[in-house]
Order: sequence, then structure tokens, then C-alpha cells
Amino acid sequence: MKVSVIGASVSGLFAAYLLAKEGAEVEVYERGDVLGRPPRTLIVTNKINEILDFVPQEAIINTVRYIELFSRSRSARLELSSPDLVVEREKLLNLLARLAKEASAKMVFNHRFEGFAQFGRKIVVSLRNLETGEEHRRSTDILIGADGALSAVARAASCNGHHLSALLQTRVWLPGNARPDTSQVWFDPDRTKYFYWLIPESDQVATVGLIAEDPKRAESGLKLFLQQQQLEPLEFQSAPVPMHRFELMNSAPAGDRNVFIVGDAAGQVKVTTVGGVVTGLHAARALANAILHGRNYRKELRELKLELDLHLLVRHVLNWFNEKDYDELIAMLDGRLKDIFEESTRDELSNSFVSLILKEPRLITLGAKAFLRSMLQSSN
Ligand SMILES: Cc1cc2nc3c(=O)[nH]c(=O)nc-3n(C[C@H](O)[C@H](O)[C@H](O)COP(=O)(O)OP(=O)(O)OC[C@H]3O[C@@H](n4cnc5c(N)ncnc54)[C@H](O)[C@@H]3O)c2cc1C
Repeated sequence: MKVSVIGASVSGLFAAYLLAKEGAEVEVYERGDVLGRPPRTLIVTNKINEILDFVPQEAIINTVRYIELFSRSRSARLELSSPDLVVEREKLLNLLARLAKEASAKMVFNHRFEGFAQFGRKIVVSLRNLETGEEHRRSTDILIGADGALSAVARAASCNGHHLSALLQTRVWLPGNARPDTSQVWFDPDRTKYFYWLIPESDQVATVGLIAEDPKRAESGLKLFLQQQQLEPLEFQSAPVPMHRFELMNSAPAGDRNVFIVGDAAGQVKVTTVGGVVTGLHAARALANAILHGRNYRKELRELKLELDLHLLVRHVLNWFNEKDYDELIAMLDGRLKDIFEESTRDELSNSFVSLILKEPRLITLGAKAFLRSMLQSSN
């Protein structure tokens, strides 16, 4: 079985490794000339170890045991029973690429996917060699689009259309009031529907950033925040990030065809935090299982889809939160909800969702108020 993977990043490399390990003839095509550029600092939950089935030790640059959350007039400090991991993307990709190569996957750089055509059960993939400008065609049994938020494979397979948000972050010297084992999160609904963060990379350096509706707002929001916190930017990291949509997975090609999309290309991103690493790896594993065992990709994605849908529900509510709502929420996080947030990770919302509501029924009132606000706004 010949498999062509487009995109040598988190999702594509992990899918390539899992498939090649089981004997598939895998080729990975990447338009860039190296792995993991531009640099990106990532924070993930330790669920990554479970999905990978190993600890990506060489990619971990820091571990974070505490999260401090701030709203206008409240704050909460959570001690995570499973610390978050701060990962350097380039190191993670080099690790995954090495595993894929050891399993006999072939890596082809400087090749851009341009389209595909289906001939019976075979697919012919068109690729452009970006060094020579020549077009190449490759015949394959299975095509995997792991080519990120602006996926050309998804467009060619007519299953694109997810909403994009802008993520902007910058490395800064670790401020005096921050600690290398503590992430900080600020909710400021006037500036962003999401939040600002500080992720410590070491006892010297941290990453500060935000997500906003578009790059302009991200830029002005971050500039203001850096001024307020008196921080000097060292090196910016930015890109569009896709948002999971309720219908999206139903439109992903699966089952009757042999073209699949995975990771950011399929919008498999938690829209509460816009984290897509663990979910992209999770989806890559589901896809490899589906291909290797002749199962339905959509069915293999069920567990992940439930998780992503719950994040989407929470995001819809948070989008309408005002400063007072965040004050109430943070007070709950410092009160009855503290244990649950300390015990379970952001990648296990489906396990903790019901307990959260049972423990703090006022969450329903808080959500209902935000929902009502959204209704009133849309009727104006
Ligand atoms: C600044 C920033 C910070 C982030 N921080 C976090 C974080 O802390 N935690 C977290 O979980 N997530 C984070 N994310 C999101 C996370 O990085 C993505 O969800 C994740 O990288 C998705 O991986 P992927 O393999 O699906 O796609 P990508 O990483 O986008 O990789 C796509 C690959 O496909 C290649 N490609 C694209 N088009 C073509 C083509 N036509 N032909 C050939 N190759 C192509 C690209 O060059 C790239 O290598 C962050 C994102 C950004 C932008």
C-alpha cells in the first residue's frame, strides 16, 4: 500500500511513522526545505505522552506545574496534578521525522502539493519541485493532507471552509514577577474573546501571546499588552489557526474515497485554547488505525470529535462573557471547581464536563446569561 502524506509537521509525520511502522510504503512531501520553521513554542498537556505512546523527552524544554488565571478583579492559582509540557516544535518534528525514517518512510523536501486526480482506486498527485520549478506526478493508493490551516489538499478535495483566527506570540525575557514553573492567563474580553498568556520556556525566557479574530487585532492587542506589562518583544511567532466546526468532520472525505485530511487541515483544534498539537496527533493515530485496519476514519474520530464539540460549546459561551462573568468564573475556579481543574487536563473535557456542572450548578446560570446576551445582540 502506497501512501503520500502532504506536510511534514506534527500530524503528517506522526501518521507517516505509524503507517510506515506497519509496513506501508510512505512518502512525505513538504514544501519547506527544513523541518519546524519558523520556530514555535508550544504548550501541551501530558495527554501527548498517551497519544504518542512515548514521552517526547528531547523536545520538552520546560514543565509547568501551576497556572495563574486573572480577570479584572479576581485571580486563581491552580496546581496541576499532571504538569503541562513546554515543547519546541522543531525538536518535536525532528524526533517524529527520525522515527518515521527509521520505519522506512521517505521524506521529500521542497515539494509543494498542487492537486490530485482520481483514476479508479489510484490517485495521481501533482507536486512542484520548488528548487527546479518542475512538476512531478506520483501515483499513490492513499493521499493524506496534513498541510495545515490553509490546506491545499482540503481545497482540492472540496472539504475546506473552517474559520481562521490569528495567533500571535513573542518571546520575552521572563519578567521578575513570573516563575519558570507557572503559566499565566489573563482574560480581557474588551481586547480578545480568548485570552492573553505567558508560558515560561526556562528561568530566562517566556512566550507571551494572544489569539484574536484577525491579525490586525492580534497585533494591536499584543502591542498594548506588552506596553502594560513593560515587556520587550524578542522574536515574534504567528500564523492563522483553524477553528473546529461542528459539521466539519462530516464533510471530511472518509470511507468511500482514499483521500483524507488530518490536523489543522481538518480544523481538529480545541477552540477554547486553540491548541492543535495533541488533537492533531490524536487524529493522526485515528487515521492510521482506520487505514491499517480498513475501518472508517469518521468512526475512529468519534472520541476526538466529542472532545472538540464540547470545546466548541464552551467557546460559544465564552465568546459572550464580559468582565463580570470572568470574575465569577475565576472565583469558581478558586472555589468548588479547583479540584477538577487541577486533576483533569484540557484534553479531557469530555471526562470532566458533567462533574463540573454537578459541582458548580451556577455554571449553567453563567452560561445562560452569556447565551441570552448573544441572542439580544443578534436581534439588535
Ligand atoms: C504561534 C503559534 C503557537 C501555537 N501554540 C500552540 C500551543 O501552545 N499548543 C498547541 O497545542 N497548539 C499550538 N498552536 C497550534 C499548533 O501549532 C497547530 O495546531 C499544529 O502545528 C498543527 O499541526 P499540523 O501538522 O496539522 O499542521 P502544521 O503544523 O500547520 O503543518 C503543515 C505542514 O504542511 C506544509 N505544507 C503546507 N502546504 C503545503 C503544500 N501545498 N505542499 C506541501 N507542504 C505543505 C507546511 O509547510 C507545514 O510543514 C500554535 C500555533 C501557532 C501559529
